[in-house]
Amino acid sequence: MKRLVANIRYNAGIFFLAVILYGCSASEKSYYEIPLEFRSPEKKAEFIKNYYPYISGRKIFIDPGHGGREKGNKGFESFETEANLNLKVSLYLKKFLNEAGAVVFMSRTKDTTVDLKQRSVLADSSGAEIFISIHHNAPGSAEDFWTDYTSTYYHARKNDFEYEPCNRDIARYVQRDLAYAVRNSGGPGSFDGTYSDYMIYPGQGFSVLRETKIPAVLVECAFSTDHFEAGRLNEDEFNQIEAWGIFRGLCRYFKAGIPTITFLNEKDTLAAGENDLDFFLYDSSGIDPKSIKVQFDSSDVNEISFDDTTNILSVIIPEAAPGEHRLRVIAANKNGNHSFPYHKKIYIMLNENGN
Ligand SMILES: [Zn+2]
Repeated sequence: MKRLVANIRYNAGIFFLAVILYGCSASEKSYYEIPLEFRSPEKKAEFIKNYYPYISGRKIFIDPGHGGREKGNKGFESFETEANLNLKVSLYLKKFLNEAGAVVFMSRTKDTTVDLKQRSVLADSSGAEIFISIHHNAPGSAEDFWTDYTSTYYHARKNDFEYEPCNRDIARYVQRDLAYAVRNSGGPGSFDGTYSDYMIYPGQGFSVLRETKIPAVLVECAFSTDHFEAGRLNEDEFNQIEAWGIFRGLCRYFKAGIPTITFLNEKDTLAAGENDLDFFLYDSSGIDPKSIKVQFDSSDVNEISFDDTTNILSVIIPEAAPGEHRLRVIAANKNGNHSFPYHKKIYIMLNENGN
């Protein structure tokens, strides 16, 4: 009996030693899921073929965060710098977009220093339609090695004048597919993993989102400061998976469509007393009439009507002083995607009495 107890103790000791050793080696190995499209070249080709009609010819600006003198967040222990991680993921994203026929511009393709404001200038002058900045996150406290999630930022908050709902649309698509690809949550601060940049810098947001005029989002793929995450981020295949997640989100975003707005009046200079403006709103899935919003000099215009058989939006602008005014139109399609920012200058002439 005594001998049996001793044996059990001996065996239990071996068992616990094995658990400890296995536990150590298991934590060294990083875990991730291979996306379905990476499991065979045919599956990947099929996905790209399916989305080619929606992506081909689209112009996309990729901004790999930091670079050169700016290393970005310090990763866990001796792992890759954030700047290099951002560049790796960005270059894979460019590759996938190019395979689907998109035209891609980049703020940098090497480890070079690019000023923040310059990134926005480059994007706006490139002819790109949307801007996407790629980053990896770090927590507020340097001792926090446990926080890890995937998040995507848009500028300002709903109801702020600076807020453009199309940015939130892009953020939602990119966030959902990226978070799914890397199997991360969107973090506790947001229901769907998209965040206003005012959460980080109230009233200002991120420079690249505030200064860029074309639709813009910023992605924090994961926390490079988390031990487990840093292990995966160091693997080239995982960087491709990150890029693939973003690519999938963009594919689905463009497939859902973006309404276009065309000004139908002959001139953008109105005679005194002239107050009706017409616009043609179009999307292949149809326009959601309830989504239409018009602002004149940043105040909402209530006298609007939309004819969904002709797709013509008629706007009666309020009485206004002669000179330059600004008109803004926002409309969503039936898939919930909003038009790109539409701000039009309108000039009102003096009347005969010179008023
Ligand atoms: Zn960063």
